Amino acid sequence: MTQIDQIMQQAATAYEQYKNIPPAQRAAFLEAIGAEITARREGLVKTAGEETNLPMARLNGEIVRTTTQLQKFADLIKEGSWVEAVIDTTPNIRRMLVPVGPVVVFGASNFPFAFSTAGGDTASALAAGATVVVKAHPAHPRTSQLMFEAIQAAIVQSDMPAHTVQHVTGDYHTGKALVIHPNTTGVGFTGSLQGGKALCAYAAEREVPIPVFAEMSSVNPVVFLPQALETRGAALAETFAASITLGAGQFCTNPGLLIGLESPAFTAFQQQLGAALEKTSPQKMLHPGIHTAFLEGRTRMLANQEVSLSPAPVLDFDANAVRPSLALTSGAAILANPALKEEVFGPHALVVACKDKAELLTVLKGLKGQLTTSVMATEEELGQWREVIDVQLTLAGRIILNGAPTGVEVCAAMVHGGPFPATTDARFTSVGTAAIRRWVRPVCFQQFPDALLPDELKDGNPRGIWRLTDNQYGR
Ligand code: NAP
Repeated sequence: MTQIDQIMQQAATAYEQYKNIPPAQRAAFLEAIGAEITARREGLVKTAGEETNLPMARLNGEIVRTTTQLQKFADLIKEGSWVEAVIDTTPNIRRMLVPVGPVVVFGASNFPFAFSTAGGDTASALAAGATVVVKAHPAHPRTSQLMFEAIQAAIVQSDMPAHTVQHVTGDYHTGKALVIHPNTTGVGFTGSLQGGKALCAYAAEREVPIPVFAEMSSVNPVVFLPQALETRGAALAETFAASITLGAGQFCTNPGLLIGLESPAFTAFQQQLGAALEKTSPQKMLHPGIHTAFLEGRTRMLANQEVSLSPAPVLDFDANAVRPSLALTSGAAILANPALKEEVFGPHALVVACKDKAELLTVLKGLKGQLTTSVMATEEELGQWREVIDVQLTLAGRIILNGAPTGVEVCAAMVHGGPFPATTDARFTSVGTAAIRRWVRPVCFQQFPDALLPDELKDGNPRGIWRLTDNQYGR
């Protein structure tokens, strides 16, 4: 038996117990993980700082986000209506969501806490009743191990099955072995397009295919409408300089494509944005691989003769450090060169000046699936530009009016997902409490006596949850 066989066997055995643990106890377990993380905060932040180059303030904020996320899933399962109980009394058919089984979570490099070992994928899977095997991200192995120790302490304290969560380090062979293992029932991933596609290919090779929920690549196009630029172009330049440089641009929601109409106001905005970017200090990127990928991607984009760099040549400093940059091109150029639509992961954006509304719409329609798309507009002009919003609705999982796309709320209504290549399945979100739906499937109980039904479906509604009974919502 290989090590992965043993781990996945343990995950399956733990699942048989864990799936039956009552929601209140599962919720207490999630809360205990949060408390253990808070207790270890100093060490976690220090280690992550050493491994990721991310500043302390950001890492402290990410710890809070991670524990808040765990609490939100705890609250969700305590409340209980997320199981979507549906009851038809005649004939007696009742449906609810149940966990899928053991799942594999790949930690993300750019969120060492909130999207890694005890991050949103793990929290949502545990809330659903799935057991989890985490493949640590190789760029922050010590942080991942410390986080796993916090989870282990919570497992012991809450009397959960010992292998409810397991932690694996290794290279891509390990990742592949986990995805193709017969006991794996789902995969969560945040990272590169190549990585996400590779995991999907492994999953498709299996005798029993499984879903891979991969969040991969997005340039988060922003449309700047004329009146908005005329009335507050300078303020928008400040807002977007901050958004482009946040976390050294290493956010999946980084605004990489800024689209508007050729006009003096758009030109002034580009100059103000370029000047604001120029004032920022160099920032270190997460790891040498991401740094190299960023420099190569940007160089590839700038090699295109129809792209110019604004404001000045960019100088890069010591290992891993970068300064932000802004490139300029035309609507015609991006239509002729699809490569310009590719993500350059880091603090860089491409400004696209279109000659008219028709060209702008054609540019938007030609973009691939996105996590977000934004529109900067006055209330008055929104009505005249309705077609833009209609196209944006087809593009992305989240559309933002008059705001930057960075900063993703963890809340019930959030959608952090979108059509490929933003993710592999636009029907789901990886942020917010709806992320739980990735790890469940519906099961229908036909003609079961009350005593044999789960509490969520029993006649007296002992859990007091919202249910749809004979087409009427109630509790
Ligand atoms: P990555 O290279 O995709 O790696 C993420 C995880 O997937 C790692 O654990 C990696 O393990 C594993 N993996 C990657 N390819 C694999 C394969 N073929 N088979 C099995 N496992 C595989 O992502 P990264 O290191 O975080 O960053 C690289 C690039 O990803 C960035 O430059 C950026 O373009 C993109 N990125 C995007 C986002 C986003 O939110 N959209 C976030 C972070 C990064 P091993 O290294 O051990 O193989």
